[in-house]
Amino acid sequence: MGAIAEDGQPVYALCELSVYRIRHLHVVVSITTMKTIIEPFKIKSVEPIKFATAEQREQVLRRGGYNLFAIPAEDVLIDLLTDSGTNAMSADQWAGVMRGDESYAGARSFYRFQDKVRELTGLKHIIPTHQGRASERILFSILGGHGKHIPNNAHFDTTRANIEFSGAEADDLPTAEGIDPDVIADFKGNMNTDALRAYIAKVGVANIPLCMITVTNNSQGGQPVSMANIRETSKICREHGIPFFIDACRFAENAYFIKLREPGYADRSVKSIVQEMFSYADGCTMSAKKDAIVNIGGFIAINDDNLALKARNLLVITEGFPTYGGLAGRDLEAIAIGLEEVLDEHYLQYRIRSTAYLGERISAAGVPIMQPPGGHAIYINAKKFLPHIPPEQFPGQALAIEFFRHAGIRSCEIGSVMFSRYDASGKFIPAPMELVRLAIPRRVYTQSHIDYVIEAIIEVYQNRDKIPGYRIVEEPPMLRHFTAKFEPIVK
Ligand SMILES: *Cc1c(COP(=O)(O)O)cnc(C)c1O
Repeated sequence: MGAIAEDGQPVYALCELSVYRIRHLHVVVSITTMKTIIEPFKIKSVEPIKFATAEQREQVLRRGGYNLFAIPAEDVLIDLLTDSGTNAMSADQWAGVMRGDESYAGARSFYRFQDKVRELTGLKHIIPTHQGRASERILFSILGGHGKHIPNNAHFDTTRANIEFSGAEADDLPTAEGIDPDVIADFKGNMNTDALRAYIAKVGVANIPLCMITVTNNSQGGQPVSMANIRETSKICREHGIPFFIDACRFAENAYFIKLREPGYADRSVKSIVQEMFSYADGCTMSAKKDAIVNIGGFIAINDDNLALKARNLLVITEGFPTYGGLAGRDLEAIAIGLEEVLDEHYLQYRIRSTAYLGERISAAGVPIMQPPGGHAIYINAKKFLPHIPPEQFPGQALAIEFFRHAGIRSCEIGSVMFSRYDASGKFIPAPMELVRLAIPRRVYTQSHIDYVIEAIIEVYQNRDKIPGYRIVEEPPMLRHFTAKFEPIVK
């Protein structure tokens, strides 16, 4: 017991400035009575980071066309571009890498992987892939196509791109509170189930090959989805005979939020919460680069025998034989171990609390963030941070560039660079939100790294009126945020 005061107010010393009250949680399991939550690991191997001068950083930016995806990682001091594949593996996982069985067919590592995924998801067919988008490509090559519509609480960018590439439509059905960055609510990642019912009535069951729900909701702030919402979405799908899939990338972080915030789950183990989440699904796609705490990997898990057969046929011609997908045996071994480690509640407590710490500190200094802090990342509201930069001059991109210019911090724009469109007449349609995501790699940075980030962001905030907008000078037709080139708009 510990860490929560009588009135339910968290007293984590990691952050005195709690803006979020944990309302439902009365018991926190803690090994000590100390208030400080520490990184639940010690460091066995270190990787030096390179310090650069302001002039060097300016040069790096220019050379990369002001696209943070185009700059060498070596020139980044603190890399918060993504939490995808940037995880630090444990000593146990590295030992697993040595134990990996590299047999072409039926490797021991595959069976370990399959058993672990089955134990957590309860799903029948476990199909390894090289990463999440490979799972998506296979799934939507089979189920997508012209005239099809696929709803989600909010599609992630690769999910949307793979659906659209198949010719189908990807539709987001968020709740009203989910898209309001200022509202503080427990489960802002939820599917809008009223909108889902209306959507099914409008589009027609025959045109909806599957319905997805993304946990946590990455495109909308890493916000969690409640068990009640997963259950309700599943029920609606079952009523109409629509297969229900979970985009499971951050299943453990989502489960921990359920434990913290949803009545009835405080005393349940995270593993049992995870198992309940998946019990409502007919299948899932997963990027192991997130909550399997590895550097590469993914899978599809499905119950439908016929769909599994088709998926394995596609897998063989693009990813590899069904017992390795696009992975080495050692990768499968590391995933199996990571899927167990991620359920450790001391790890999850540190993970969720340390992300919130960053959010709360910058928010207390006036920096507008998406409230409340999400699981894997803090999303800064660039529209509010830079009110003098209109969406067509990419305020999110401008802000991400400025964090790098000022302090060598790499973040990721999630706004009009990623999601804006042009209508038939060539008019610019901005993204609904202009966000900059500070994604936290798992087990990589310590609290003092994060304190440095906090200090830098507050300094940029204090000088925000001097930040220029940007224009695109070169762009590809799809997923342009990866390769577009920009230049500052100098007045
Ligand atoms: C990362 C991610 C994906 C895609 O996975 P990759 O491994 O990057 O291909 C899909 N959905 C969500 C929610 C993600 O966060």
